[in-house]
Amino acid sequence: MKLVSFREGARLRAGRIGAAGEILPFAGCDMQQLIEARAGGADWPATEPPLAAAVQLLAPLPRPRRNVFCVGLNYRSHAAELAARGFNGARSADDLIPPAPVVFSKVPESVVGPGAAIEIPLVSSAVDYEAELAVVIGRGGRNIAAADALAHVFGYTIVNDVTARDLQKRHQQWLLGKGCDTFCPMGPCIVTADALDGANARIRLWVNGELRQDGNSNDLVFGIPAIIESISAALTLQPGDVIATGTPAGVAMGFSPPPWLKAGDVVKVEIDGIGVLENPVTR
Ligand code: MG
Repeated sequence: MKLVSFREGARLRAGRIGAAGEILPFAGCDMQQLIEARAGGADWPATEPPLAAAVQLLAPLPRPRRNVFCVGLNYRSHAAELAARGFNGARSADDLIPPAPVVFSKVPESVVGPGAAIEIPLVSSAVDYEAELAVVIGRGGRNIAAADALAHVFGYTIVNDVTARDLQKRHQQWLLGKGCDTFCPMGPCIVTADALDGANARIRLWVNGELRQDGNSNDLVFGIPAIIESISAALTLQPGDVIATGTPAGVAMGFSPPPWLKAGDVVKVEIDGIGVLENPVTR
């Protein structure tokens, strides 16, 4: 099942996509409320008749309740391309592949939906893209064992982990480089966990129609169960938490010279089984 968020007047709503691509709004809940209700054991809510007119989709969780968790350096191919460019002084991918997941976060206010602009901040001249499979947590928990982790996954979506490489480097901690306004495009939908194999999902990204990234989540250094185990060992995961799992090779930083994003570019991410997330770039 594919689930989307949209606005009706001032009201935030959730719906599912029907067989003909129509949106069937759920009665009386937005996406966060839907995820919480399902995590609590509730049945799927009733749906209303399909929307008569097209709507602009929002990010499935337009304003997550907490920071979006992210995992860095989580594809071997990505570690290799960064090592080739001397990232953090590395001489080989092995120098960069971490012994435990590198977890950082993006602030909730950085989330934007399909079609919304990625805004290059005045302070940066090195903005990059990162196509990522993201996990949406259903039932929360602490100390979730890897073997039980997939039972806590509500579904999957796409995140573009947009990054200002100059800020990422200058400030050492990644929060500013990763958390700029508009730096977390998300969507276009959440695919429920039963409908996608998160361990085998093809991930592609194009800039202005040019294919830059073409990977598969079967190349993750730390798979989704291990990521959930690591994060929940430290803090309690909650329904509606989003975890972006990392990006494969092909980021701008891996090229010489790097083709940083510029105003007028269009970035398109596709994950087979989820859909397409496309965002223009402005300054
Ligand atoms: Mg990333």
